[in-house]
Amino acid sequence: MSRYCSLESFLQAIRGRLLVSCQAVSGDPFDHPGAMARFAAAAILGGAAGIRANGAGDVGSIRKVVAAPIIGIDKRMASDGRILITPDFEGAQALAAAGADAIAIDCTRRGQRYGALERVRRMRRELDTLIVADIATEEEAAAAVEAGVHCVLSTMRGYTDETASLQEFDPAFIASLRRAVDVPVIAEGRIHSPAEACAALDAGAVAVIVGTAITRPANITEWFASALRKREAAAGSSHVVAVDMGGTNTKAGIVSASGEFAFQIVAPTPGGGRTALLGHLKATIQRCVDHAARSGLTAGAIGIATAGWVDFETGSIAYATENLPGWTGTQVKSSLEAEFGLPTFVENDANVLAHAEKRFGAARELNDFVCITLGTGVGGGCYANGALIRGANSFANAIGHLCIRPGGLACTCGRSGCLEAYANAAALVRMTGDPALQSAEEVIGAANAGHPGACAAMQACAEALADGCVNVIHLLDPRMIVLSGGLTQANQLLPRQLEEALARKVMNWGRRSVEVRVSTLGYHGGVLGAAALALENEK
Ligand SMILES: [Zn+2]
Repeated sequence: MSRYCSLESFLQAIRGRLLVSCQAVSGDPFDHPGAMARFAAAAILGGAAGIRANGAGDVGSIRKVVAAPIIGIDKRMASDGRILITPDFEGAQALAAAGADAIAIDCTRRGQRYGALERVRRMRRELDTLIVADIATEEEAAAAVEAGVHCVLSTMRGYTDETASLQEFDPAFIASLRRAVDVPVIAEGRIHSPAEACAALDAGAVAVIVGTAITRPANITEWFASALRKREAAAGSSHVVAVDMGGTNTKAGIVSASGEFAFQIVAPTPGGGRTALLGHLKATIQRCVDHAARSGLTAGAIGIATAGWVDFETGSIAYATENLPGWTGTQVKSSLEAEFGLPTFVENDANVLAHAEKRFGAARELNDFVCITLGTGVGGGCYANGALIRGANSFANAIGHLCIRPGGLACTCGRSGCLEAYANAAALVRMTGDPALQSAEEVIGAANAGHPGACAAMQACAEALADGCVNVIHLLDPRMIVLSGGLTQANQLLPRQLEEALARKVMNWGRRSVEVRVSTLGYHGGVLGAAALALENEK
């Protein structure tokens, strides 16, 4: 005698709750009544209100450990060579005897061809259990209700010839089923997440049955394993072409999503104006694209770092100095997209260093930081609130031209007293004033070895840099300053002197947390930045 022989008591036990289908396919390591009983016990422990199980053996075994309602089914091979749910009366009788409170029967069109509706009528007359119908369409549900089932279950949706194309759980079908019949609807079939279970109840199901997502370890493992394989495959294909075109050299390469170079080249940047520069850029990209094709890599986008100020939206050069003659006004993005058919992103070469640090470097976890590059010129890129500052006219981040010595030295920009005139390579050599030290590299070596004149020049450079940084820090309150460029190579002294000067000069220094770091991305920082730009924007 079943505990839940009335529909009312059955519904009271399961309403708004989860039932767990505990079944193992033949040959599965868990294909054993004892194993299914343990799954069922665990399901109840986790809050399930009922169990669905296959075969009198499993049902009997589960009944010994579970007091909650059990929906029994009897899966058998039918004469068409396919499995059918509870295809004969004797199977239903055995389930009832084993302790099933309800018995499910395949009432789809195929099930009906095997006499499902007649079987429902006989079960109503001869068995003291509830009878529920596994169906795939509203019509099948209506026929089953007409024959006398107590509930309908969406179990077969997507598993019959007529519905085979439906591979996802669809709450709209539950709502439609709910309107088509006047018996309770239980949602079952391809419900793989708590969110889908909630959606089923929202759509009007009285309860939800989940099987595979809870009780099939092999399937669940496969979901994870396959996601990881897909991720790996996607990572293998997400390479970009990245180019850093400076006034002297052009560096380029194929770069992976994690910043590895699959290919790299360096070529001198030609003079001769816009046509020559654009032709050079296209030839450089073509070499990368050809290499990618030979290596079986797919380049998904192109990133370009270029000297000059860039309108990021249009990818055109807002202004370039005579380092790149004729470059001002060039429509870089559109001409490269027309040539290669790949999404192309163009950015100022100092700005891309900030992208590089954000994606691959010291600032990976940070939303507010400033990159300053110290070489022939002084440039920078500022991130605020997680985004690069570009400005209204693409002229933001002109850190080299912050005025630190009003009325001071003339600058390349035509003004005077700019940071660049006090903190670039030429300034460092000039301030050393030692004819024996002719290059910034020599000064750095001497200063780090304790040469007094070189040390003093480095100190003056650090003071100037600090004066520029004070203004940036007061404006943006960054978490980190990342230094890069020739003046930071093999130079322990400069970052230390800078930090000491900042501690003296910055308001509320003790209450801030500002780190000074030297970039570890090195020589290819610009190419990595162009790659980061392309990777961030391609999707
Ligand atoms: Zn200037």
